[in-house]
Amino acid sequence: MKLPIAEGTREALRVWRRLMGFHRPRAALFGLTVLFMALTAGLSGLTLAAIVPFTEIVLRAGAHPLTTPAAEARPATEARPAAEPRPAAEPEEPPRSDAPSLASLRARLEARFQETIRGATPAETLGRFCLLVLLLFLLKNLCWYAQSFLSVFIEQRAVRDIRDRIFARYQGLSLDYFQGSHSGVLISRITNDTDLVRGAVANGLMELLRHSFTLLTYLAVVLFANARLFIWAIVILVPSVWLIDRLGGALRRISRTAQEKMARVTSVVGETVRGIRIVKAFGAEEIQTRRFMRETGDYCSSLVRMTRLGSLGTPLTEMAGVAVAMALIYIGGRRIVTEGAAPGYFLLFLAAFLSMMHPLKALHQVNLHIQHGLAAGKRIFEVLDARATVREAPAPRPLPGFARALRLEGVSFAYEPDRQVLRGLDLEIPRGKVVALVGPSGGGKSTLVQLIPRFYDPTAGRVTIDGVDLREVRLADLRRLIGLVTQETTLFQETIANNIRIGNPAAGDEEIRAAARTANAHEFICALPEGYDTLIGERGLRLSGGERQRLTIARALLKNPPILILDEATSALDAESERLVQDAVRRLLANRTAIVIAHRLATVRNADLIVAIERGEIVERGTHEELLARGGLYHRLHRLQFAESGAAPQGSGA
Ligand code: ATP
Repeated sequence: MKLPIAEGTREALRVWRRLMGFHRPRAALFGLTVLFMALTAGLSGLTLAAIVPFTEIVLRAGAHPLTTPAAEARPATEARPAAEPRPAAEPEEPPRSDAPSLASLRARLEARFQETIRGATPAETLGRFCLLVLLLFLLKNLCWYAQSFLSVFIEQRAVRDIRDRIFARYQGLSLDYFQGSHSGVLISRITNDTDLVRGAVANGLMELLRHSFTLLTYLAVVLFANARLFIWAIVILVPSVWLIDRLGGALRRISRTAQEKMARVTSVVGETVRGIRIVKAFGAEEIQTRRFMRETGDYCSSLVRMTRLGSLGTPLTEMAGVAVAMALIYIGGRRIVTEGAAPGYFLLFLAAFLSMMHPLKALHQVNLHIQHGLAAGKRIFEVLDARATVREAPAPRPLPGFARALRLEGVSFAYEPDRQVLRGLDLEIPRGKVVALVGPSGGGKSTLVQLIPRFYDPTAGRVTIDGVDLREVRLADLRRLIGLVTQETTLFQETIANNIRIGNPAAGDEEIRAAARTANAHEFICALPEGYDTLIGERGLRLSGGERQRLTIARALLKNPPILILDEATSALDAESERLVQDAVRRLLANRTAIVIAHRLATVRNADLIVAIERGEIVERGTHEELLARGGLYHRLHRLQFAESGAAPQGSGA
């Protein structure tokens, strides 16, 4: 059996590896960035190490230090009488406890360094030293700039690719995916989650590498300066860090409890306000007040406890830091004050040791970011791995056109396994006919029309076009034959012209104008400040309901599909607007095969066939006159609508 933790880690590693895959197209740049990072870290170590010669040249005043070749320096391990002050010109003797190899390495490095910068006079040596340090800093900063720029470039490209992939996946998924998910959540995958992933896997990875290099470099410098003192530092530091960490853990726990307590305070207020009638009717004011006071009391005590512990943080951290520093200064500085040892390596140790704190803290932060990012990465891969339920056949048949009829043969459908929405429907829609679907709300009309462009596949039976099952034909071909005008007049944040052009991306301006004219939209478009180039949408122009409908009709006219699905708008328009829309709809339906979810009587009356659907079944079919004469569901609906509008039923014979 696998341990749950191990499984969690494996999962995290899997997500991490897959996210890293987004860097693959830029692997060479990535390598270059890592190289610049390593160089930056190495040069930071070198600039820090300049402290040693600096103390020799400047701090040990009065001497002309770097004039004795290092080759003549006393063997590093050789002992010296404690009282005898060391000539300033000698390179600093490394601490006795260090390995001889480290001492000789230092001696060699010092000798090389001295040769490089030794001048004729102390002032010249100082000048050369300053120039060298300047050069080191220049190089370091150039490398820093390069790695910083390159890593942002790589990061942003990876994030862009992730966003593009999610968006493309959304385009490929079937409708059930979108209906089953909240749109805010779907948007958040592309915005928030991708940002979190950037924080973790793009930026986080770079930070991880950058700080690890820096930390390792400083660690090397620390060990080089005084390995023994480093062991002392760890021995002193570990208990302090442990104590501070415990304190942090306790604080986090109390803070969580305080949040829960605040939530309870809020919930008592909410309950009481919402149920104020019951509270008053039952005379429960006092009980509720006592309850509220108990909750605020609890909240108050946990806040006090949090502050009591929280206030310990700053003094404890400072004391721990000072204790470590003092212990190190005592242990490391003793030889300087009692034996007159050169302070260079000790100062280098302190500087490098302190410098290690920043990357250490940063790595802790990076770890948190990476955890968040991996969780977001997991959510992103759920999208990328989602499979469309409506898929194209492996070898789809091309569908050049529509010649004879659309048929539903024994079609049943359920969104959820145990809730049938359509039950064994049979319907033939011959080419060139207008079929109106009517029936009570929730009967299944919208569901039926969604099967025709294959937004969903039937759970039983089949839909055919000229005798071929829709599941066998090429999806793009099928959808090219179908125009869709829905109640929701979906317009994009684009110009009016581009909103119409979606119907046919290859259409020229004149065709767009012609479609708009037929849809009774040309006039109002021309009256807009920028005509067809006017921007619609959030920050753009707001259009009326009727105008929006006419634009979507223009879009469908431009596409000029042989089959049209029209879900008539139910919202009431004023008489003039209604007339313009109806007129546009009439032109749209002309010479087309259409399935209309009809809410307006005018469309229904002119339909070649009216199909009444109730509870997922076809209960009546016929022409307007036939159905009225039958006196069934259609008749009822018809009467109801006229009763609402207050007009006399048309064609009812009454
Ligand atoms: P209306 O005239 O109100 O639009 P309708 O006849 O078009 O109604 P449908 O929208 O097809 O009816 O709905 C038929 C049934 O299917 C309803 O019970 C509805 O709750 C259910 N339904 C619709 N869409 C979904 C969905 N995405 N998931 C689950 N159930 C759904």
